[in-house]
Amino acid sequence: APAEPTMVGRDPLEVLSEVFGYDSFRGEQEDIVRHVIGGGDAVVLMPTGGGKSICYQIPSLVREGTGVVLSPLVALMHDQVAALRLAGVRAAALNSALGLDERREVERAYLAGELDVLYLAPERLSAPGTVELLRRGRIALFAIDEAHCVSQWGHDFRPDYLRLGALAEHWPDVPRIALTATATPETHREIAERLHLDGARHFVSSFDRPNIRYRIESKQNARAQLISFVRGEHAGEAGIVYALSRKRVEQTAAALRDAGVDAVAYHAGLPASERLEAQTRFLREDGVVVVATIAFGMGIDKPDVRFVAHIDLPKSIEGYYQETGRAGRDGLPSEAWLVYGLQDVVQQRQMIESNDGDAATRANQTRHLNQMLALCEGVECRRAFLLRYFGQDPSPYAETGGPYRCGNCDVCLNPPKTWDATVPAQMLISTIVRTQRERGRTFAAGQHIDVLRGVGSERVTQLRLDELTTWGIGAEWSVAQWRGVVRHLLATGLLEARGEWGVLAPAQAALAVQRGEMPVLMREEVIVRSGGRSRYGS
Ligand code: ADP
Ligand code: ZN
Repeated sequence: APAEPTMVGRDPLEVLSEVFGYDSFRGEQEDIVRHVIGGGDAVVLMPTGGGKSICYQIPSLVREGTGVVLSPLVALMHDQVAALRLAGVRAAALNSALGLDERREVERAYLAGELDVLYLAPERLSAPGTVELLRRGRIALFAIDEAHCVSQWGHDFRPDYLRLGALAEHWPDVPRIALTATATPETHREIAERLHLDGARHFVSSFDRPNIRYRIESKQNARAQLISFVRGEHAGEAGIVYALSRKRVEQTAAALRDAGVDAVAYHAGLPASERLEAQTRFLREDGVVVVATIAFGMGIDKPDVRFVAHIDLPKSIEGYYQETGRAGRDGLPSEAWLVYGLQDVVQQRQMIESNDGDAATRANQTRHLNQMLALCEGVECRRAFLLRYFGQDPSPYAETGGPYRCGNCDVCLNPPKTWDATVPAQMLISTIVRTQRERGRTFAAGQHIDVLRGVGSERVTQLRLDELTTWGIGAEWSVAQWRGVVRHLLATGLLEARGEWGVLAPAQAALAVQRGEMPVLMREEVIVRSGGRSRYGS
């Protein structure tokens, strides 16, 4: 039988130990919990594994009424509810998976004040009657989990999230807490804006995971590389291997098994019983490796995952960071290992092109892909890149007067050969500046590359771009190489791609490159691999 509601008004620290069995709060948990208990709104940015759930679960218990948790992951609600009930918390979920009778019972319990926590899928809120139902009960708080789903430019946009802004009007006196593990500065701003969290306090935890070693290698034979990585460096340890398709998941799991690794496959196409078995073995036994599509891992809480491997390029840095964040939650040394090759890029570009979404969606996906590639192809400390990407300061890792060095990523441990791309970067920037000045507008990367390579098209002649002084000055380099340069400049913030067409514009710092005050360094292998000969290569 559900426990008595004894936690209302209690001290949060006592609730933490009595209900959850922990003796102290972590990081900013305590400040967040006390702020929300006091009725304040909050925006919480915390990395995966940071302990976000406590931030709304404890206030749900301590405040009068039910804490309503909006979560997009219907498949996970069941697990979350089950875990809370085990701890004696009166929890339930309302989602489309419920039968009519079950739904009635949840509604009754809510209205009777018998629920501490109620999970709700965002789309339920727009279903007829839900708002009315909620109004008839007493609400302790609203928690908006995975709040980055409200961002149209994020990697995981869900239209239903846009409606959550209305909570502020329906329940002006109920505190709201929005939480996410994947917020770039823009997403952060969008969350506050679209959810109408104007007066909210912002809690931004450090996104650094110092015990994770980042390694990104170029793909020769992904399967052989993976087997040698797992057997050679992580024999007998638990890990997750991510692949993009179900077929690759199954083939890879089989190959690992053939190589003597205790591997299981996990993807949405497998029967529920098989998935459950894979998950249970991974959680309960030692040294099981799960090969999975991204469907695996959300809500899975295993502290001693020693490695996360990607054998296909993730679609965004947000996704990569979230997935690699599942390694080393116990704080012990762990690895995030990724192999990628040009084929990944070609394949993903084709997938984006053949997508029936609108131009803006495709441009957005391209932007995410380019950022991911910029990480892979960068010559900078991986950790510094990631921290900056999430709007955080990498300076604790700055060497005096020198570059950032975390000492625990492949770039720091084994610096790559670099290629001085200053000259092509200057050419590209000049072309953009000139088209802007002389034609009164600028274009997407393709057009600028045509100009630099002196390749005519109907559009080029129509706009008389072949009369620009930069026409043909970069014929030395292939389209792929130029794309590499564009991507690098976009990634380092020297160029911006604007609007749904990705029109290029130079950032202020690009002028320093143009004046020769700032060198542009790229990975040598990127340029060599993208098609060879170059006057300026070393
Ligand atoms: P997130 O949602 O941020 O990924 P979770 O809320 O799932 O993280 O918490 C991650 C893990 O940390 C869970 O095992 C959780 O029980 C544990 N945890 C959370 N807060 C504390 C704490 N104060 N002390 C010890 N463990 C904690
Ligand atoms: Zn580093």
